[in-house]
Amino acid sequence: MSLLQTVRDQAAPFVALRRDLHQHPELGLAEFRTSALLAGQLEAWGYQVTRGLAGTGLVAQLVRGSGRKRLGLRADMDALPIQETNTFAHRSHHDGVMHACGHDGHTAMLMAAAHYLAHEATFSGTLNLIFQPAEEHPGGARLMIEQGLFERFPCDAIYAAHNMPGVAAGQLVFIDGPAMASSDDVTITLTGVGGHGAMPHRAQDPIVAAAAIVMALQTVVSRNVDPQQAAVITVGSLVAGQANNVIPNSARLSLSVRALDREVRDLLQTRITDLVTAQAQSLGVRADIDYLRDYPVLVNTWHETELARRVGIELVGPERVTRQGRPLTGSEDFAFMLEHCPGSYVLIGNGDEHAPAAHACMVHNPGYDFNDDILPVGAAFWVRLAQSFLQD
Ligand SMILES: [Zn+2]
Ligand SMILES: [Zn+2]
Repeated sequence: MSLLQTVRDQAAPFVALRRDLHQHPELGLAEFRTSALLAGQLEAWGYQVTRGLAGTGLVAQLVRGSGRKRLGLRADMDALPIQETNTFAHRSHHDGVMHACGHDGHTAMLMAAAHYLAHEATFSGTLNLIFQPAEEHPGGARLMIEQGLFERFPCDAIYAAHNMPGVAAGQLVFIDGPAMASSDDVTITLTGVGGHGAMPHRAQDPIVAAAAIVMALQTVVSRNVDPQQAAVITVGSLVAGQANNVIPNSARLSLSVRALDREVRDLLQTRITDLVTAQAQSLGVRADIDYLRDYPVLVNTWHETELARRVGIELVGPERVTRQGRPLTGSEDFAFMLEHCPGSYVLIGNGDEHAPAAHACMVHNPGYDFNDDILPVGAAFWVRLAQSFLQD
């Protein structure tokens, strides 16, 4: 029998685990029940479990044979502050909290692989299963790294997977190089001199400056970034003034800035900073710029992606594999791990447009649900990847 069929035949307890996690979603850094539940099972299966990295984070380690290679497989555990609209039996029991991104499925997938690898699979080397908190916010991967993840659990390669609605169920998508965008948050405070709306010559108007800055920012992507590169600058918030006859003292702009290349990301920061400063000065107001570099560009390394691609083709056949998918402008904190260790971020189709609405709608939708049919695909993929990587 094929590995995929064997894992599928054994999937029932992990589908039950997935639905249990869906019923009991927990927000980032508060995954106490989830973390305790996983740790207990992993220990019972023979894993050496380290608790408490970034609070609720876990590393479950299994060492077999004399192999010297070390592999990291990562799943995220956190839910989102969304009120679920589904009515099925395993809907969220927690008001206003929901597994709307399928992290319940990612966790159950890795648990199914953990069980199989501990009980039925041969490999030689060190397996590090990383269950991280707070992927959505504020970035549990970064916190685990700051708390010594890779010093305590060195890895020669690291992988993670995410379900993807809109892609056929179980389709595996691989992407060489940049796969997810960086995400930076910029807050610009403009300070002028308030005054009477009828006498603008006695004031320094921050609203006119804000409007000029919004328009000038549009030139960064169109005039400074290589047209073959992707970049996004969105002014998502502009707050200023309250009355039609009052020039306010200040205005505030909030920007979301994305790039799919580390150099483009740096270029955006330089151009936004220079342009805002100069525009403000030319219009007689002061600009204070708070430029928060958040999640970095997620870059998959070629060698590790190619290994995963070969494993995927062997597992589900070439027609169920997208050899080179398109990068996404969303962001993902696994990017921090890939800054420390080579590896790859793999997408698994959750269901195309013909699938039930809960599987086809986008993640973060209140009617979304992880597709349990893809759980065995992800679990078998992890098993085969671990066996391929961890050899003498
Ligand atoms: Zn999400
Ligand atoms: Zn997610």
